[in-house]
Amino acid sequence: MIRSGQHFLQIPGPSPIPERILRAIGTQVIDHRGPKFQNLGHEVLEGCQFAFKTAAPVVIYPSSGTGAWEAAIVNTLSAGDKVLMVETGHFATLWRQMAARLGVDVEFISGDWRHGVDAARINESLSADRAKAIKAVMVVHNETSTGVTSDIAAVRQAIDQAAHPALLMVDAISSLGSIDYRHDDWGVDVTVSCSQKGLMLPPGLGFNAISAKAQAASRSNGLRRSYWDWNEMLKPNSSGFFPYTPATNLLYGLREALAMLREEGLDAVFARHKRLAAATRAAVRAWGLEILCLNPEEYSPVLTAVLMPEGYDADQLRKVVLDIGDMSLGAGLAQLTGKVFRIGHLGGCSELTLMGALSGVELGLAAAGIPHRPGGILAALEELKTPGKPDACPAVPGTSAHA
Ligand SMILES: *Cc1c(COP(=O)(O)O)cnc(C)c1O
Repeated sequence: MIRSGQHFLQIPGPSPIPERILRAIGTQVIDHRGPKFQNLGHEVLEGCQFAFKTAAPVVIYPSSGTGAWEAAIVNTLSAGDKVLMVETGHFATLWRQMAARLGVDVEFISGDWRHGVDAARINESLSADRAKAIKAVMVVHNETSTGVTSDIAAVRQAIDQAAHPALLMVDAISSLGSIDYRHDDWGVDVTVSCSQKGLMLPPGLGFNAISAKAQAASRSNGLRRSYWDWNEMLKPNSSGFFPYTPATNLLYGLREALAMLREEGLDAVFARHKRLAAATRAAVRAWGLEILCLNPEEYSPVLTAVLMPEGYDADQLRKVVLDIGDMSLGAGLAQLTGKVFRIGHLGGCSELTLMGALSGVELGLAAAGIPHRPGGILAALEELKTPGKPDACPAVPGTSAHA
């Protein structure tokens, strides 16, 4: 039982909040109609453009990521509109459910929850759509339920090759600030994100980055909205203000988080996430366990989902790890419940934090009686010392994992 030191929050969001950000949030609230706020408003709105790599406006809602999903839909689409979505995992499925509830007609390209978006299939559907009835392509960049990252540039290319006018809307909720993301370069029309993953903030801020084409769609679409209306936001935002009381203290935190990303440098931040992910996979392979993501080109830098050996329950392992190590691991979601556990290595996570987390997993595997080979920690350490060393661990007999 480890009860001293800090809790290890190794779920793939919320990610642990760096001290600097906690201190920034823990200061007195100010008048959101006053000049001091105006500076803060300008700073965070411009800072978001840096994080999303866009010159387009980014709106900030006091909401979870789910709210920002809804804002993207109600500002651009009409009841009965057709959209194309891809079943990458649980979050893509939830977004599809929301679209359906709002009256949007979803063509859902099926998937096995172990691969990312197949751009060729998007191209096929769009090419077959001669009437140009599909109004939007909506995909999840980093599928947090599976640890699979999709190639958004390839999706853009698939749309362009079909010469299709559909909007491109991307859920970058768990990729922003952790994986290279380019709203403008990739021609994304609406990017949806939120605060508690790569931005290292508490939950409570939702974002929409909005292209000119998406803004044009919002002037004539049919779905009704009031609180989520982009125009209501964009008008006061242009002078640094918000139409209603913003989450001022979270904006203090956002200013600090953006400063941290600038200081480390986005490229260095992305490289760190890749390093930590590679070390995690080295540990998983050394343990003889299976990584859920099947395509090495789509391994997520943000989290690693690990399959349990047949007959063993991931939630039981998570319980043991929490009991003996005071560490929270991510649960398997929906159809993956009990079958996988997820190790988050995002946000402010460092090499040494990761080594602690992996130690907790190995202690847990042993304490829970899960068949595995020891040595994951050393393999992870070797990967950190010598990045990219080929991994030659043979499988452990009798531990073949299942899907
Ligand atoms: C976390 C997450 C969401 C949901 O965000 P909430 O803040 O819980 O509403 C949606 N999509 C992805 C990819 C996520 O990781």
